[in-house]
Amino acid sequence: MSAPIVHGWCPGALRPMASGDGWVVRIRAPLGRLSPEQARGIAALSAAHGNGRIDLSARANMQLRGVTPDSHAPLIAGLTDLGLIDPAPEIEARRNLVLTPFWRDGDATHTVARALTDALAAPDAPDLPGKFGFAVDCRRAPVLSDISADIRIETGAKGGLICRADGAPGGVAVTPGTAAETALDLARWFLATGGAPDGRGRMARHLAKGTPLPDGHSVPPAPTAPRPHPDLTETGALVALEFGQMGAEDLAALADLGPLRLTPWRMVLIEGADRLPDLPGLITDPNDPRLRVVACTGAPGCPQGLAPTRPLARALAPHLPNDTSLHVSGCAKGCAHPGPAPLTLVATGPDRFDLIRNGTAAGHPAQSDLTAAQLTDTPAILTESL
Ligand code: SF4
Repeated sequence: MSAPIVHGWCPGALRPMASGDGWVVRIRAPLGRLSPEQARGIAALSAAHGNGRIDLSARANMQLRGVTPDSHAPLIAGLTDLGLIDPAPEIEARRNLVLTPFWRDGDATHTVARALTDALAAPDAPDLPGKFGFAVDCRRAPVLSDISADIRIETGAKGGLICRADGAPGGVAVTPGTAAETALDLARWFLATGGAPDGRGRMARHLAKGTPLPDGHSVPPAPTAPRPHPDLTETGALVALEFGQMGAEDLAALADLGPLRLTPWRMVLIEGADRLPDLPGLITDPNDPRLRVVACTGAPGCPQGLAPTRPLARALAPHLPNDTSLHVSGCAKGCAHPGPAPLTLVATGPDRFDLIRNGTAAGHPAQSDLTAAQLTDTPAILTESL
């Protein structure tokens, strides 16, 4: 098995990444929110300048697929008109921010995320690695704890806010007014202490090497809330999409229902909606087995994909127990779910999969050389020793 290519940066709108079906153009919606006009506009641009396929990423971004070198410039012009393009690629790259979709206007999450967005666009913002990101999660129980981020602004165990380095058991107390500045100071500390020696690096890895944090990072976070599922919430209707994928026409239909908040769970929150919509392609049943599987693009859509992933994940989903989840990855990079999963199948060849239990796609396999037919004929292979 060849090692996956690690780019060390994420595609953006201004810096697209080549994939098996053309360029991927990633849109970082400001504060994770699209107005109906913006969502409708993206749908039209995806159909006109891409292949009409749109993905939601594990960091709450939207990716337009099938863009070409010729269609990229008119696409960017259209996205600029919609207010979705940063003034420069460096600013776009630094604005790597996920916020809980359950924020309300003017609450701590909203206040901190706005301040952090402004601070990251300032000329003196630290020059952080492309994958270095922030999570802003200031409601009573954090929901983003298992979402990839390097600096977390979240609720502390005794109330109040903390700013915590990912991988550290505790953070330092902050207020909505000081959180963004403290987060950037922590980012500068990360760089100053050698966290990104060759321009790449992540906070948890840096701390795992034994780098001591500055004094005061001792306040534990509040207990984590259960992972959200499709439902009506205080802020709107949360609906899921199979593998986070939709067509341009699906996005246009969603745009007619209200502003959309993008989530890192391959779900969209329809702001202010007081009923679950009945649209084709949406998953609104919290018990739908497809919610138990995640799968990346895989082959042939991704050039690094060693085997197709989504047909296998779709076939295995109904056979999984309610309390487990399966990640099917086209290679060891594990884009769709960078963290550990109870079960991971990672492709090692055109029809060969390793099975990893309680690990990441790069973890040590419990079984190797499984074929898709073996797995779908005998899905108990996945769970027999659980
Ligand atoms: S994990 Fe999937 S999407 Fe990511 S590089 Fe590998 S095959 Fe491609």
